[in-house]
Amino acid sequence: MKEISCKLLVVGAGPGGYTCAIRAGQLGIDAVIVEARRPGGTCLNIGCIPSKALIHAADEFHKVARMAKGESRLGISTGSPRLDLSQTIAWKGGIVERLNSGVSGLLKRAKVKTVEGWARFRDGKTVEVETELGVQVVRAEHVVIATGSVPVELPFLPFGGPVISSTEALDLNEVPGHLAVVGAGYIGLELGTAFRKMGSRVTVVEAQPRILPLYDAELTKPVAKRLRDLGVEILTGARVKGLGQDGELLIEGGNGKKTTLPADKILVTVGRRPATEGWGLDSIDLEMDGQFIRIDDRCRTSMRGVYAIGDVTGEPMLAHRAMAQGEMVADIVAGRKRSWDKVSIPAVCFTDPEIVTAGLSPNEAERAGYDVRTSLFPFQANGRALTVERDDGFIRVIARADNHLILGIQGVGAGVAELSSSFSLALEMRARLEDVTGTIQAHPTLGEGLLEAALKGLGHAIHH
Ligand code: FAD
Ligand code: NAD
Repeated sequence: MKEISCKLLVVGAGPGGYTCAIRAGQLGIDAVIVEARRPGGTCLNIGCIPSKALIHAADEFHKVARMAKGESRLGISTGSPRLDLSQTIAWKGGIVERLNSGVSGLLKRAKVKTVEGWARFRDGKTVEVETELGVQVVRAEHVVIATGSVPVELPFLPFGGPVISSTEALDLNEVPGHLAVVGAGYIGLELGTAFRKMGSRVTVVEAQPRILPLYDAELTKPVAKRLRDLGVEILTGARVKGLGQDGELLIEGGNGKKTTLPADKILVTVGRRPATEGWGLDSIDLEMDGQFIRIDDRCRTSMRGVYAIGDVTGEPMLAHRAMAQGEMVADIVAGRKRSWDKVSIPAVCFTDPEIVTAGLSPNEAERAGYDVRTSLFPFQANGRALTVERDDGFIRVIARADNHLILGIQGVGAGVAELSSSFSLALEMRARLEDVTGTIQAHPTLGEGLLEAALKGLGHAIHH
């Protein structure tokens, strides 16, 4: 049994863990990272990156397919496209591999030692790693738990055969004839839309009365309309009950009516849960916050010198939250004074159209006791949106009525994901409506919608 000691041990090389280790290395901290699979975690290997690659391929295919059907208004016609999904998946694999080696290279350059294998805690400062070359013991002064999350499995619809999670959905070699999706949240709608565009019949079963229940209804309406236009069938207020004898999905509607749905694949996307099993959490006895590890504003757990970051610590389970926590914890271990003081963690749902949220929604701002001004600028009045044939959606700004401090910015529209950076920047800089209206936005861009929404908040939009 080999033993090594270090100042910082990071368990899990997802976006949280690898960011923490790289930053620690840059700060001259002697760091070790343990990863059982490939560097990059869920995000890089089976999450953010592969899903966005597939969404892009589906968009390209859909565009050409519309032209082939004579549905293009641009005067472009073409023959029927064909999609070789195995080639698409190989292309996606290439991107993942490139990023895998990128992360490994960055860890190496920061002089972080990587141990490949499954870590199990002996106590709060020691782990045993089952590596290919035998058991490696790692002792550290500081430990960061960054084990991430795994898909929730429905007990009456376990994964296996036609019942798949996002991981298998991102590795299919053929477009399923009929895809049933359980859960109209982030993954269900991102991937459901992509498969519809690649030619599948798609039926989404959602337990709540509407899609994307995490977001307010105003934001999700353009997405619901687009799903209808694309021909995605949505059953809301419906629960799945299991599989019938012939493999069909058993569904109970809100009115108690039972139906069956034959499907080639059943993609279950009903949420993710923290990865807290199999690595000895019981042997370190940390305080929990429900199913997540409880942390404070420095990502400290209830045990001295043990930190936790990323999905294992709770919502929102987003890669950029994990990375920001990882960077902060490395600074703290290096002796710097840091605590979590972010105004917002932006979120982007890569549906069609995309949804971006940063800061408070109108309801959240009112619930927080603010007297607010909410102003909304529709893309119907935005030149850029018209020139890319997508005038659905809007940008919405929520500001305090008294001093115009911006509390939240949201947008829905094709391509608005890229606006998330200006939304977050405005919030983090504590911008007022006047700061946004005093900033020139290039023309013609979707970003002009932010300027116009802020102008509207001050009572004088120019283009609406
Ligand atoms: P993870 O990325 O889950 O990494 C944890 C790592 O720890 C894994 O590599 C695992 O193998 C390793 N590990 C666990 N236990 C051990 C152990 N005992 N020993 C050794 N190694 C261990 N988020 C976004 O912000 N934007 C998106 O567009 C987005 N799209 C997504 C799409 C899909 C399909 C999915 C599933 C998720 C998506 N997410 C997205 C969420 C994002 O992937 C997660 O929030 C993010 O990966 C969390 O990072 P993490 O570092 O906490 O954990
Ligand atoms: P989710 O929480 O976004 O959505 C789950 C949906 O399933 C909800 O609408 C819920 O009402 C529904 N549901 C739950 N139980 C059900 C049942 N029995 N029958 C029918 N519907 C049911 O979860 P997800 O889509 O699995 O994504 C997991 C997490 O991954 C997200 O919360 C997010 O943090 C992360 N993610 C982020 C992005 C992004 O940032 N673009 C993309 C994908 C995933």
